[in-house]
Amino acid sequence: MSLPNSFQFHTIGIVHSCYKEKFGIPRQPGLVTEATARLELLPPFNRMDTLDGLENFSHIWVQFVFHACMTENWKAKIRPPRLGGKEKMGVFATRATHRPNPIGLSAIKIGRIYQENNKVFIDLHGADLLDGTPVLDIKPYLPYADQINEAKAELTPRPVQTKQVCFTQQANVHCAEYEALHNRPIKALIEQVVSQDPRPSYMAKQLDREHGITLWNANIKWCARNDHFEIIRVEYQ
Ligand code: SAM
Repeated sequence: MSLPNSFQFHTIGIVHSCYKEKFGIPRQPGLVTEATARLELLPPFNRMDTLDGLENFSHIWVQFVFHACMTENWKAKIRPPRLGGKEKMGVFATRATHRPNPIGLSAIKIGRIYQENNKVFIDLHGADLLDGTPVLDIKPYLPYADQINEAKAELTPRPVQTKQVCFTQQANVHCAEYEALHNRPIKALIEQVVSQDPRPSYMAKQLDREHGITLWNANIKWCARNDHFEIIRVEYQ
C-alpha cells in the first residue's frame, strides 16, 4: 500500500489568548500560570457533545499550528534559546517553532467548558499560545501514560527566574486602573511574563534598554536593570 506523503487536516478550533505577539510568550505551557486563553471550537466541531466527558480531566494535549511561522523555512540544525544561542541541535531534538511541519504540542490545564452566544469554549490556563493559533486536535492528558517520572531531558532544565520584577509607582497605578477596568490580573501576569526574561539570548546582558510587550490590550514598557527587571509603565486604551 502506498501512503500519501502529505495529509490535509481541519482546523477544529482557534485560540483567543492574552499573548498578542510572539515576544513574551513563555517557551512552554505552565510557566506563566496567570496566562489566560480560551479555545473556541469552529464549525462543524462547535458542538458540546464533542466534549462530553472532558470535565473529568484537568489537562489536555493541544496540537496546533505555528501559524505565525508558516512562511519561514526550516533548518536541520538550530540554536535553541535555552543553550544561550551558542550551540546547535537537530531540529527534531528541539521544540523549535520552525520545523518541517509547523505543528506544536502543549499539555494545558483546562477550566470551564461552556457555550456562549452559540459558540463553544474551553478555558485554558497557563497556555504558551499566540492569539489566533489554529488548533488541529485536543486529547485528554493521561497521567498514567503521559507522566514519565524517570524521563531524561539533559540540557533542558526548567527555566529559572533570573531577576526580581519591580514596578515603578506609575506602573503600579496603571495596573490597578487596568484591573479595575478590565477585571484581569494584569500585574501578576506581567510579573510572571517578564520574570522569564523573554529577550533573545544575545540581549541578556544589555541593561536599561526599553522593551515593549503586548498582553491583552495593554502595552507594557519595561527594562532590565542591574539586579532586577523594572516595569516602567503600562499603556492601554
Ligand atoms: N509547547 C509547544 C511545543 O513544544 O510544541 C510550543 C513550544 S514553542 C518553543 C513556544 C513558542 O512558540 C512560544 O514562545 C511562542 O513564541 C511560539 N508560538 C506560540 N504560538 C505560536 C503560533 N501560533 N505561531 C508561531 N509561534 C507560536
